[in-house]
Amino acid sequence: MIEMTDVYKTYSNGVVAINGINVKIKTGEFVYVVGPSGAGKSTFIKMMYREESPTNGNIIVDGVSLPKIRNTKVPLFRRNIGVVFQDFKLLPTLTVYENVAFAMEVIEKTPEEIKKRVMEVLELVGLKHKVRMLPTELSGGEQQRVSIARSIVNSPKVVIADEPTGNLDPETSWEIMNIFDEINKSGTTIVMATHNKDIVNNMKHRVIAIESGKIARDDLRGEYGYEA
Ligand code: ADP
Ligand code: ADP
Repeated sequence: MIEMTDVYKTYSNGVVAINGINVKIKTGEFVYVVGPSGAGKSTFIKMMYREESPTNGNIIVDGVSLPKIRNTKVPLFRRNIGVVFQDFKLLPTLTVYENVAFAMEVIEKTPEEIKKRVMEVLELVGLKHKVRMLPTELSGGEQQRVSIARSIVNSPKVVIADEPTGNLDPETSWEIMNIFDEINKSGTTIVMATHNKDIVNNMKHRVIAIESGKIARDDLRGEYGYEA
């Protein structure tokens, strides 16, 4: 599903964020990306949804060679990718329903299709009863549920999450992780950067550790491997 070949990324200020990465992630895998601050985790995953492009090397996601696609084709490519952020990035003036429906409206689904699917994903994340609320009326955990619902509403093959539990308390983090686990069990590939040692060590999945822009470890059913 995701393949990086000899990938390097140097930012315009000269910082080498990714320094030679080769990796393959198969359909249906759940992968944690761990490592110290500044190691290159965010850059690594941003390149998967073409938020950043490599300076050298190739990245193929779901058969699409990302360095080769034109900027105008990026929105089309991203329809197959759900993205979840630490700070949720919900649209503050839209209701829960509208935040989730938005991603379907831009691809011109019919109102009937949209309503059915939005209610389905809001049920999956346990927020069907809060459809009319605004993001500011929700707890952090609820806002992250909305953002997860938004990320999966168009049934992407891959969900990429950058520190999705970084702003949440431990109990809420577990609830959010259980939702990701369910999404993964339905066949969706998940790649998640995280600093949550407890979760990585207890909800076992593949662990890729990045240090100084390189893969330092890559273990199926791995451990967090750093002090929390
Ligand atoms: P991590 O997610 O592991 O903390 P990042 O990928 O965010 O690591 O950063 C890797 C390195 O690249 C760091 O030295 C960081 O300061 C630098 N960096 C990240 N984004 C940018 C940017 N947009 N411009 C310049 N340097 C950046
Ligand atoms: P169900 O039939 O599954 O109970 P409803 O049809 O009652 O779902 O819709 C659930 C909630 O979502 C209702 O409060 C409804 O008004 C709201 N809703 C449906 N469509 C929209 C929309 N386009 N914009 C905002 N809220 C909507």
